[in-house]
Amino acid sequence: MADVEPDGGLTDVRHLLHGHPETGFTETWTTATLSRLLSERGLEPETLPSGTGLVADVVGTRPGPLVALRSDIDGLPVTEETGLEFASQNPGRMHACGHDLHMAGLLGAAFWLAAHRDAIAGTVRIVFQPAEETGKGARSVIDGGALEGVEAIAGIHNNPDYAPGEIAVGPEPMMAGCVKFRVDLHAQGTHAGYPQSGTGPLEALASVILALQTIVSRNVTPFHPVVLSVTEVHGGSVWNVIPAEAGLLGTVRYFHKEDSELVGRRFREVVHSTAAAYGITADVVWDDFQDPVVSDPELGPAVAADVPGYARLAPIRPSMAGEDFCEYSTVMPTVFAFVGSNGGPRHHDLHSPRMIVLDEAIAPATRFYVAAALRLLKELAA
Ligand SMILES: [Zn+2]
Ligand SMILES: [Zn+2]
Repeated sequence: MADVEPDGGLTDVRHLLHGHPETGFTETWTTATLSRLLSERGLEPETLPSGTGLVADVVGTRPGPLVALRSDIDGLPVTEETGLEFASQNPGRMHACGHDLHMAGLLGAAFWLAAHRDAIAGTVRIVFQPAEETGKGARSVIDGGALEGVEAIAGIHNNPDYAPGEIAVGPEPMMAGCVKFRVDLHAQGTHAGYPQSGTGPLEALASVILALQTIVSRNVTPFHPVVLSVTEVHGGSVWNVIPAEAGLLGTVRYFHKEDSELVGRRFREVVHSTAAAYGITADVVWDDFQDPVVSDPELGPAVAADVPGYARLAPIRPSMAGEDFCEYSTVMPTVFAFVGSNGGPRHHDLHSPRMIVLDEAIAPATRFYVAAALRLLKELAA
């Protein structure tokens, strides 16, 4: 691979993007800005049918496959507390997941590729995807037809646990699959002084919360990480009435599909049998909406093998956060990488109002994108 010396202006571009975060499917300023920057380099960006986000093709001088590089572009409804000079100017909005870094890195790759078309045998489609944080952005890109004919796609997430210059990529699972669950308990309700006249949901709710915690500890193999968190409970509104309804919401995170099936089955058994024991009924909503992010077993290692040429290849430390990049795996082979973005001893995590992505992470992100594109073109042409 040729030496990729990213454009010096990318730091300013990143600061500009960081200062103007927009949440999912409202990224109109971001889309217009990305579009302008790509057009200035002779590319022809096309806004996606969903109204925000865009794609632009860099066509090589030689024929070959069509591969894609993806960055997400949305921020979060978070009020920034970093104190950075280039902090958010949009009240209540922040690039607290570091998607500004992904954008700057991918812009750098687009600029480099556009200036080195003779290095490309095939076409690289640059994809700026909206609304990752809603979990619906990647699906909207696919359903909108923007990936027709694309044979493989690579993406990144910055990871503040790693230092700038460290990149983790390979065949192991990287980001967790995600289930949203909801339980509604239905009882009769009655006067608080006359419990024998009805049934109540609250004792069952308390038992369900505790019993659910045995699923991970007693049913899942200890060799697979799984989290089950109850995050919201509701029931009752006054001190002297036993309510008729109560419920809870929460999430399960996992890395192996068979674990989500096992946990889902046990979850229903625990809820329904506990409710029955208390003489009430229950409804369970189990929304297994996001698969784990894991690279293609051949393309992941192939891309990883190039990393020592331009960065430090770090071991994958899986994240319990989810990523809608998993949607692309349902339609084509994918490669996903963690790009180190902080690594300091007391750094703040993704989504924190004090999370800081270091500018030193931009160049490694650009180099990863370029190297991944060239490697995918080569592997798919073989
Ligand atoms: Zn996020
Ligand atoms: Zn993110």
